[in-house]
Amino acid sequence: MIIDCHGHYTTAPAPHQAYRDAQLAAFKAGHSLPRPQPISDDEIRESVEKNQLKLIRERGADMTIFSPRASAMAHHVGDEAVSREWTEACNNLIKRVVDLYPETFIGVCQLPQSPGVPIENSIAELERCVNELGFVGCNLNPDPSGGHWTSLPLTDKSWYPFFEKMVELDVPAMVHVSATCNPNFHSTGAHYINADTTAFMQFLEGDLFGDFPDLRFIIPHGGGAVPYHWGRYRGLADMLKQPPLREHVMKNVFFDTCVYHQPGIDLLFRVIDIDNILFGSEMVGAVRGIDPETGQYFDDTKRYIENLGLSGENRQKVFEGNARRVYPRLDAALKAQGK
Ligand SMILES: [Zn+2]
Repeated sequence: MIIDCHGHYTTAPAPHQAYRDAQLAAFKAGHSLPRPQPISDDEIRESVEKNQLKLIRERGADMTIFSPRASAMAHHVGDEAVSREWTEACNNLIKRVVDLYPETFIGVCQLPQSPGVPIENSIAELERCVNELGFVGCNLNPDPSGGHWTSLPLTDKSWYPFFEKMVELDVPAMVHVSATCNPNFHSTGAHYINADTTAFMQFLEGDLFGDFPDLRFIIPHGGGAVPYHWGRYRGLADMLKQPPLREHVMKNVFFDTCVYHQPGIDLLFRVIDIDNILFGSEMVGAVRGIDPETGQYFDDTKRYIENLGLSGENRQKVFEGNARRVYPRLDAALKAQGK
């Protein structure tokens, strides 16, 4: 089967955004925070069937690992209570999509992070989403400040309580920033790719996986700039007297295929071991248009992978096997469906 590890609910029904707008207005005015607005199953069906489901059917995927819209997480907006209540509403909406289409979607949660707030405070929502909602992973924001990088690197011990819970629950995290409030960085064009690259370098510099040999991260967007500069990172590991990347980082870190042109996918597969690559499209997401050079959607990444002429075994790894290995709870859910 074909598993897309990176999909967002970017097309949520209008009352969801209306709730967010009302919530932020209430926060600004110093009023008590409103509750989410009602959304019907039909509104959810319509929002998914015209968008993600239509494209999934056209492009030929089976299962999408589905999370709230990343740019709307906006952890830097409001305060801890605002972030927590917004996060719960976003995750609850993902659960409703999964319940309507259990053969096609499985949930990954957003976390209620806020700048300066300890990551321990995000553990309860991770537990709720995994234990009660059946989610299989989370999106972890390494920069809740939205582009000012006021928190410490992911290898700092302040993150450890959350990593301990991830290991206990056996769920991976996708390293995923949100919108930026720093005008120097375009959210999807610069901040996302910067964060991917930054997280990888943090892992290289530290020894996080010496402390957590079972911890797993997906670095999206093809690993940011990392595959293109693989020689630089191998060389830096050597200079910094770290073990080779294969042992030091790549037992625990995986890249998706959200790279929107053929030469980028060619390079990713040439440089990165096949066991570390998970099919992903980030659809419907960052780049929605059609490439005038090819006449195909930029984010139809399956097409680029098909062009690689992979062996049957490698194809199975990228489209299914690696995702089942990195997300054991997905594997269990699929097995429960007889897949
Ligand atoms: Zn994303």
